[in-house]
Amino acid sequence: MGEGQGLPVATNPVALAQALIRQPSVCPDPGPAQHLLGAVLEQLGFTVWHLPYGEGAERTPNFFARRGHTGPHICFAGHTDVVPPGNEALWAHPPFAARITEGVLYGRGACDMKGGIAAFVAAVARLIAQTELLAGSISFLITGDEEGPATYGTQKVLEWMAQEGQIPDYCVVGEPTNPAAMGDMVKIGRRGSLNAHIVVEGVQGHVAYPHRADNPVHRLLNILAALQAQPLDNGSDYFEPSSLQVTSVDVGNGATNVIPASAQARLNIRFNDLHTGAALSGWVQTICSQHAPKAKVDIKISGESFLTAPGPETTA
Ligand SMILES: [Zn+2]
Repeated sequence: MGEGQGLPVATNPVALAQALIRQPSVCPDPGPAQHLLGAVLEQLGFTVWHLPYGEGAERTPNFFARRGHTGPHICFAGHTDVVPPGNEALWAHPPFAARITEGVLYGRGACDMKGGIAAFVAAVARLIAQTELLAGSISFLITGDEEGPATYGTQKVLEWMAQEGQIPDYCVVGEPTNPAAMGDMVKIGRRGSLNAHIVVEGVQGHVAYPHRADNPVHRLLNILAALQAQPLDNGSDYFEPSSLQVTSVDVGNGATNVIPASAQARLNIRFNDLHTGAALSGWVQTICSQHAPKAKVDIKISGESFLTAPGPETTA
């Protein structure tokens, strides 16, 4: 795309959001949406470093773009990938057409978060149009995998930024967080998330001879009851109470007179800043071993909670 031909006008967030939505960048983004965005930022005087990571099907495009060399350095962080549209026939408006109907833009990613990216790029473009000489630096950290495993996304780019001395003083993430109206909520932290898969093996048997069996369903129910017996906390200064939700219980036993050989469950914990993933993992493991010493417990921590305590950054 030479000389900006075909590029949307950067100061117009609607045109930019439409152009991005028309690149169906289902996670992981195959790339064109990021190249479009990178080209727009280059026109605005940004230096763009394209930073793809991962191989084959996992290959994830990412980029870091910066304008200015000095501090303070503010970074806008976001993602160009979207979740799959599902059955497109069920959409009232085609998911990648970016149509505007009665003043509302429809399309996959309009909210989360091509609209957010377009809004912060347009805000920067308008600022640059007003004043060429900015004090400090503005940057963008854009990943193509936020909706998936995110293994080759923001974390990898942050490692690169640390090596290159590009860590910002401030960061604004463009995730949609306004429940009712634009600007009604600014989040200064995020809860952590942990997923657990518990498999209890027992001894299969006939219900008439329970002493010869070991019922894994009873053990699993006791585990789940113990995990829910007490609230994890009552909330902290900045977060609502942590929450443990059992998402699935599976036995798959079609017989009414057979004690099954195994039972399993899945659960998720969204936890605030009073906990760590490691401490909660240990607690889940302990409860499981109390009720089913041979239970297999597979735990994945997808993120720790974090908080920017109120201060100069959040006031700014
Ligand atoms: Zn998002």
